[in-house]
Amino acid sequence: MSTLDALTVQEALALVPRIDPKYHAVWEGRPAAEQAALANYFLPHRSAKPMIGPTRPRVVKWYCPFGHQHSFPSGHRYCINVYTGCAHGCAYCYAAAYEPEAANSKSDFERLIDKDMADLERFDVPPAPGHMSNSTDALQPMEERLGHCRYALERIRAHRRRFSTITLLTKNPLLAAKLGYIGLFKELSVLPPGHPRAAEFQAKGWPAFQVEVTLEFWRDEARAFYAPGAPSVQERIEGIRALRAAGIAVVLRIDPLFPRSPLPTVPAKGMADFGLCEAQTLDDLDRLVAFAGEVGVRHVVFSLVKIVKRRRGHAPEAMEALLRLYRALSPSGQPVWRGGSWRLPETVARAHVVEPFLGICGQHGVQAKFCMHNLIETP
Ligand code: SF4
Repeated sequence: MSTLDALTVQEALALVPRIDPKYHAVWEGRPAAEQAALANYFLPHRSAKPMIGPTRPRVVKWYCPFGHQHSFPSGHRYCINVYTGCAHGCAYCYAAAYEPEAANSKSDFERLIDKDMADLERFDVPPAPGHMSNSTDALQPMEERLGHCRYALERIRAHRRRFSTITLLTKNPLLAAKLGYIGLFKELSVLPPGHPRAAEFQAKGWPAFQVEVTLEFWRDEARAFYAPGAPSVQERIEGIRALRAAGIAVVLRIDPLFPRSPLPTVPAKGMADFGLCEAQTLDDLDRLVAFAGEVGVRHVVFSLVKIVKRRRGHAPEAMEALLRLYRALSPSGQPVWRGGSWRLPETVARAHVVEPFLGICGQHGVQAKFCMHNLIETP
């Protein structure tokens, strides 16, 4: 990748009217210097296309190049996928729709992220939240050998004023403790003096670094069925306890939520009737939320399990079975296809899955946020 030309403010602003309307909201209402900085960093300067979007190949990327800012209001934020694919191999992984099946490192990762950091400085891009890593797990086993997650976090520390909250999403928090990353997490948790948002974060008591740990099952039998390559429930609990003992902010993702027995079918059936392991009983959810309260997570995050079409290969048997179940729960006999995935019918999702879960959170006094709200409310 060659070094990007820096456009003058006028040249960069001249690109703005050509931006695809679905990204406009990010530019609207900003001072001209910020609009120019964003245009300089994200837009393809030399493109001859009449309409352009934030499509430059990068490591520190636009959060979601597919989403319309009205339906997916992510704003100006970054997604930093440290690896490609994921060794954890969860059956329900939404990233399987676009990520390669095999887990791998990114070639030249360190040089590329250095270049992105240099460009953020050179173009004077205003700070934004950074999310690491939504389509892979930055703490999957190869981190022990390659250390790309650590390298990325160290680069962020060196260029801290370019970022606001850093969120590390993982199913493997114990590895961070084992590899001695907690000191680095602590340093990232406070914005340094002189950071444009330091006073605001301090006044509001916002941590500038958080680990979102996915702990979607309470029984390891369910974890082994739906997420066979991922760390065990016990390992994740141990990792979360280590983070919390060190004062690191943790968000617990009880995510995704699954349907449970008895299913609202006529006649009533159970998960086993569809060849599925019971994923989350009400007792499991109660224990998960109680654990969240006990260790003092900031809040819990949830969404509904979606079934995607894989980029390559066949869907895992668990997902084929879940699709049969979705069909049985749909009045038309056809599962709902929305936003690139099959979903539970809205009424079933709400009454059978979401409301009981929110009831449990309420009983434990634990705040629950829907996945999208959690994203857009991360400052
Ligand atoms: S840990 Fe996340 S990215 Fe990795 S396979 Fe599981 S759901 Fe996908």
